[in-house]
Amino acid sequence: MPRDLLTVVVAAYNEADSLPLLHPRVAAVLDLLEAQGLEGRILYVDDGSSDGTWSLLQGIAAGDARVGLLRLSRNFGKELALTAGLDRVQEGAALILDADGQDPPELIPDFVRLWRDGFDDVHGTRVVRDGEGWLKRSTAHAFYRLMGRLSRTPIPADTGDFRLLSPRALAALAQLRERHRFMKGLFGWVGFKRTSIGYHREPRVAGSSKFNFWRLWNLALEGITSFSTAPLRLATYLGLVTATVSFLYGAWVITKAMIWSDPVAGWPTMMAVILFLGGIQLIALGLIGEYLGRLYEESKQRPLYLVDVWQPAPGVSSGESRVGGAVHAHRATTAGGEDA
Ligand code: UDP
Ligand code: MG
Repeated sequence: MPRDLLTVVVAAYNEADSLPLLHPRVAAVLDLLEAQGLEGRILYVDDGSSDGTWSLLQGIAAGDARVGLLRLSRNFGKELALTAGLDRVQEGAALILDADGQDPPELIPDFVRLWRDGFDDVHGTRVVRDGEGWLKRSTAHAFYRLMGRLSRTPIPADTGDFRLLSPRALAALAQLRERHRFMKGLFGWVGFKRTSIGYHREPRVAGSSKFNFWRLWNLALEGITSFSTAPLRLATYLGLVTATVSFLYGAWVITKAMIWSDPVAGWPTMMAVILFLGGIQLIALGLIGEYLGRLYEESKQRPLYLVDVWQPAPGVSSGESRVGGAVHAHRATTAGGEDA
């Protein structure tokens, strides 16, 4: 029987404080799994960090033959950093873990068990979120509910990126090369056999969250526009309702003028109507613009990310990324994310 292979993919952006705490925990879990006949690897993706993350990672890799390193040419954001990491997992399953210890590595054996039971997508669902304010929790909650209503792609609520993907789920994901990547939605789109594990989301072990409210808001917009065209339909309905009301109002104004011959009057009414209609039109235009802008980004067909350094774990037979295009260790600026 061939040995199972699992690669833990960790995207890290300025995580020099948390990684020294995280790595021993992950390494201990992989040792444990080794005993159960599972070969473990760790792939750290440095998402253009500006602190000591990269040199720290090199130290970790030097001390552990299971560690592979990937450094992007700049900060591309978590979604693309994860994509870059997953693209380089060519064999076996992959498990995505946050660098800050919020997703406890100690749960990995549970994920692996379910994978071995035949599940393709095992995701962690947060039952408790410590260290996050009520505002973040309630907006996150509202967002998942809204997404559930707007999109036909199943996106499980309160599910982050803590998940294990089987080889075929990974291969499927690698075919989705869109530039605007809302990973949670992409995982949902892939489908296959899925299940969730409830877990207690702990506070960060060190450092601070990279996602402020503006970034979360943009992520939410990304999610909605990537997986639903409902807002466009909303513009249609908004227009229909406005047109109907306007027609009735117009009829009333004309009737009034014919019966009581209404001379010049209604300056406030006119201003209100003009401004209201102008506002409605701008909202509809803005909605279209959101989609048009994304279409424009996609049409440029740029690579998703650029790789600065790719240093596979010494034990891995490597070279090719899953999406094609030879990638050599230590070669600077390798284009990643080519279309398959
Ligand atoms: N991250 C990244 N690139 C970024 C921002 C974040 O790779 O531009 C990584 C970060 O290092 C961490 C994970 O994404 O491993 C989650 O980030 P964070 O903990 O800041 O988000 P939160 O848990 O607060 O949602
Ligand atoms: Mg975090």
